[in-house]
Amino acid sequence: RVIVGTKVDQNHVNYVTAYNMLTGIRFTVSRINAKMDRELTSADFDAKHKFSFDITGNELIPSAKYDFKFKDYAPWVFRHLRAKFRLDPADYLMSLTSKYILSELGSPGKSGSFFYFSRDYKYIIKTIHHSEHKLLRKILPEYYRHVENNPDTLISQFYGLHRVKMAYGRKIHFVVMNNLFPPHRDIHQTFDLKGSTIGRDLHEADLERNPRATMKDLNWVRRNRHIEVGPTKREKFIEQLKRDVVLLQKLKIMDYSLLVGIHDAARGNEEKLRDKTLQVFQPGGDREEDTTPNSLMRTPSKLENERKARELRMLIKRERPVPLDKAAAKMPEELLDQRTHFFYAEDGGFRATHENDLPGEEVYYLGIIDCLTHYGTIKKIENFFKGLSNDRTQISPIAPEGYGERFINFIKGITMSREEAERKQEAQQAS
Ligand code: ATP
Ligand code: CA
Ligand code: CA
Repeated sequence: RVIVGTKVDQNHVNYVTAYNMLTGIRFTVSRINAKMDRELTSADFDAKHKFSFDITGNELIPSAKYDFKFKDYAPWVFRHLRAKFRLDPADYLMSLTSKYILSELGSPGKSGSFFYFSRDYKYIIKTIHHSEHKLLRKILPEYYRHVENNPDTLISQFYGLHRVKMAYGRKIHFVVMNNLFPPHRDIHQTFDLKGSTIGRDLHEADLERNPRATMKDLNWVRRNRHIEVGPTKREKFIEQLKRDVVLLQKLKIMDYSLLVGIHDAARGNEEKLRDKTLQVFQPGGDREEDTTPNSLMRTPSKLENERKARELRMLIKRERPVPLDKAAAKMPEELLDQRTHFFYAEDGGFRATHENDLPGEEVYYLGIIDCLTHYGTIKKIENFFKGLSNDRTQISPIAPEGYGERFINFIKGITMSREEAERKQEAQQAS
């Protein structure tokens, strides 16, 4: 079953919000990318720029379908981050254009965040709580340094931080980040792992209703699953994970998970490719079955794509005060900088390997997600109440140090070659 979601057309309750988000992103990203590149300064990390969109527009801001305000945070920093994450600027803009709109899946998750896919499924827009927004702004210099020193970091790749506000509406903060799952491969199983057991169980009955539902730690353990990699990959993976967790501990962040999507090459792509329109869904919580027929989800025609590309080139040209040849010289420079991300290099993911390091049957798509929760905010209270009734080391909201340690230990324990896992299982059965 393919997750398609409900299309967010003009009648959808979130249509205007989504349209405004994309319009704001498109404008601010092309605005910053039109400038001649330069080194970052410390002021760049605090920068914020506000723009008012309306139906008439002016010489600086193009007209929009609706009146709204848009705030762009640290645009220079995110431009550099996008380059470090090897995004092609034109490609990024193409993915996030406002013409092809959304679909929505299910009911709100626990956090109330909304998730939107870009139409090509490469990017996710996640609306975030104000406290998460404040945290990201605060940690941005350290996050940036970490990415600089760890090109293969598994922590969510943030490409932009913005805020949108409609007339009489509330302020909505959101980030743009990488979708860990590829558009071209079926993900047969998904797990959200924290290394905690209490409450970390998706009812198996829910899984029967929706085989693609995200499972949790206990489902993983029950299936006796492993991240099957041989010694070379294992070492590299655990090493990076440790470095990432050290940062999160230092920043007093917790409640993050390792999201693992598993593609079983033996099963292949039995289902249709996911639709290419921008979609919105709300994960977490109990999702409702989506019954939108695939035919309702329109894929843009080749002609439309070409027109889009033309428009985009014009848009970039119009907003580009730098001579084009200089800008072009800059682009190959950025491209030369590119090397592939170690964990996303094999078909967009991380291929299983055997004990002898030869490739296995599965491809893992994984990363550390939901890493903007500061221990100080609400978790202290939760910890107190949950701690009264449960084993303190097993509850999910323990302090960041312990959280990180437990997280690493769990992942380490489930990362081994298939042969090693089989030996372990045999030993267990024998005893
Ligand atoms: P809560 O705080 O209740 O855990 P949340 O609203 O903060 O929820 P996340 O934990 O960030 O949401 O993500 C919820 C689910 O959305 C994940 O389990 C996963 O299925 C999906 N998801 C989140 N981020 C990504 C990503 N970068 N790539 C692919 N899927 C993602
Ligand atoms: Ca989460
Ligand atoms: Ca969260």
